[in-house]
Amino acid sequence: MKNFLKRFFLLLVILLVVGFGLFASTFTAKPINVEMYKGDSDHFATPEKTALANLPETTLSIIKCGKMTSKQAYIFRGGSWSETYESGMAAVLIRHPQATFIFDAGFGINVDEHIKTIPALMRASAKYDKETSAAAQLQAQGISPNDIKMAIISHSHWDHVSGLEDFPQAETWLAKDEEAYIHTLPSSELVQHLSGKLKWHPFEFTDSAYENFDRSLDLFKDGSIVLVPLPGHTPGSVGMFVNLRSGKRLLFIGDLTWAIEGEQIPTERPWMSRKLVDLDEDGVRRSIVKVHLLMKRYPELIVVPAHDRRIHNQLANFPATEK
Ligand SMILES: [Zn+2]
Repeated sequence: MKNFLKRFFLLLVILLVVGFGLFASTFTAKPINVEMYKGDSDHFATPEKTALANLPETTLSIIKCGKMTSKQAYIFRGGSWSETYESGMAAVLIRHPQATFIFDAGFGINVDEHIKTIPALMRASAKYDKETSAAAQLQAQGISPNDIKMAIISHSHWDHVSGLEDFPQAETWLAKDEEAYIHTLPSSELVQHLSGKLKWHPFEFTDSAYENFDRSLDLFKDGSIVLVPLPGHTPGSVGMFVNLRSGKRLLFIGDLTWAIEGEQIPTERPWMSRKLVDLDEDGVRRSIVKVHLLMKRYPELIVVPAHDRRIHNQLANFPATEK
């Protein structure tokens, strides 16, 4: 009996060590195989070049409204266990001659209630701090939240929709695939809680190929704001190109990766984070490779992951503007 117990515990220890080793290995650096996932993403459409002078006067501001702090290792494969990563929560304010709108809404006024809807493991692995909501910051600068008639969301996760209810006059624009996805979500998801209060405006990518995307939506038909599909994280995740008159170009990629290293290396989230947040892991890899190839072709393109505060810090923060 004694011998049996000894062997049993030895086996248990071996299994635990092997299991831990396997789990730890899911956090190690592992670049995505670009050749495997590029498909036709290295084919770029020849865009009808809009002369800079013909682009409308458009401005952009980052409105920071909160942050979550966690180990960098949870953010991308190869991230450090000793470094912390500040995930910025933000809305992007765009002022275009035809509309003033926001892209994502960040943490809203009721975020303390909203955070209760996320999985316990996620709440346990990150600490959250709210800052001033986008609506309150606009109000403080004399812009009424009621003047915002349009809010585009990169996708429907809680940290991107929390602030939507603070803009009661805004129609929420989202990709048609994302709207269909929302209908499949359990009632515990924040977007379902808010759904009754929001006016949905689903859109399709009805314009032709743009850069290495085979479909796009040129929002105002003037080349300034172009929406593109970035499926994977959710089925209807959306990226937004902003082409400013100064020649500055930005691409907002939502949660395709949480940090810019994801596109640069390129690499994905570690296994545990993927299981918590990504619906289609292969889709995420394909979309990451697409953005990676774009960055290689246009080194001056500013790619903005929704939660990379280091990049938010390099851009104009509200009320300052990028032109
Ligand atoms: Zn997010």
